[in-house]
Amino acid sequence: MIEKAYNSNDPSHDRVNWVKSIPFFIVHGLALATFFLFPFQWQYAAVLLVTYYARMFFITAGYHRYFSHRAFQTSRWFQFVLAFFAEMSTQKGVLWWASHHRHHHKESDQPGDIHSPTLRGFWWSQVGWILCSKYDEPRWDQIKDFSRFPELVWLNKYYYVPPAVGVATLYLLGGLPWVFWGGFLSTVVLWHGTFTINSLSHVFGKRRYLTTDTSRNNFLLALITCGEGWHNNHHYHQNTANQGWFWWEVDLSYYVLRLFKAVGLVWKLKLPEDQTRFAHLKYTDAQRQELELQSVFGKGRIPAKPKPAVEETPEPAAVLGALAAPAPAGLIKRN
Ligand SMILES: [Zn+2]
Ligand SMILES: [Zn+2]
Repeated sequence: MIEKAYNSNDPSHDRVNWVKSIPFFIVHGLALATFFLFPFQWQYAAVLLVTYYARMFFITAGYHRYFSHRAFQTSRWFQFVLAFFAEMSTQKGVLWWASHHRHHHKESDQPGDIHSPTLRGFWWSQVGWILCSKYDEPRWDQIKDFSRFPELVWLNKYYYVPPAVGVATLYLLGGLPWVFWGGFLSTVVLWHGTFTINSLSHVFGKRRYLTTDTSRNNFLLALITCGEGWHNNHHYHQNTANQGWFWWEVDLSYYVLRLFKAVGLVWKLKLPEDQTRFAHLKYTDAQRQELELQSVFGKGRIPAKPKPAVEETPEPAAVLGALAAPAPAGLIKRN
């Protein structure tokens, strides 16, 4: 195992590791075999839907909104429940998921971003980065808050336990057909559904807010990801429990979180202020035009601040000048 491989300079660590990825491809093969081994029945379709959306909820509400962004509060036992069910998605451990995602927000579409479709193409952002060795380890420096909990560290290390429990439950309830439809097939669809947020939601959709990345809002992606498709909203202000900020922005995860709040499972859901939601109304004509241009497919914003190879220390006078001149409203990255 490569310790802290994400800091590795070995170029082979930054390419798909085909041997390590064999299980990933086997699961894809089993998902495809499902249609031949256990032909369609409505019962199987229902199992597929339930296992897909239930787990998608825990990915978005757990991995993403709680563990990555702390968008609401909950008890220690329920945080474990969130992590356990999120890990049933077979997307590695909770600390791994949240720590790499936090890093994505820090570096969005800049050279350090591990899955920018603008910089490294669709397939890299969809699956490539997951299948290489460089990002095997959690970024411990990004997740000091949750790595204080030994039960989460344990769950993160033994991330295959929840999926194993899931498969066993499916087998007990419905035998092999349920394992294939609700396990292998559902998991592959869930993988690619989740990964669209790293890839497609930085490529297809409308940009409402000026951010320093290529994030977009996309209704279809919001439907298949329980609300995560409002990705431009999310990059504009990342710590909100809802990502659909207007009534027509469907956000299934938020509706369930509201329900959880009503029964006391979660509390202190962070919501965007009106001045954040309506910030776009104050944009100048030039800013509006820029956003429209960026919303066209293939015209994603060119990353605004490529990081210099060597960190330059600005002259004191330049720093004072920058402090004196306020940044134009709406151009401030809100994260
Ligand atoms: Zn993003
Ligand atoms: Zn996020």
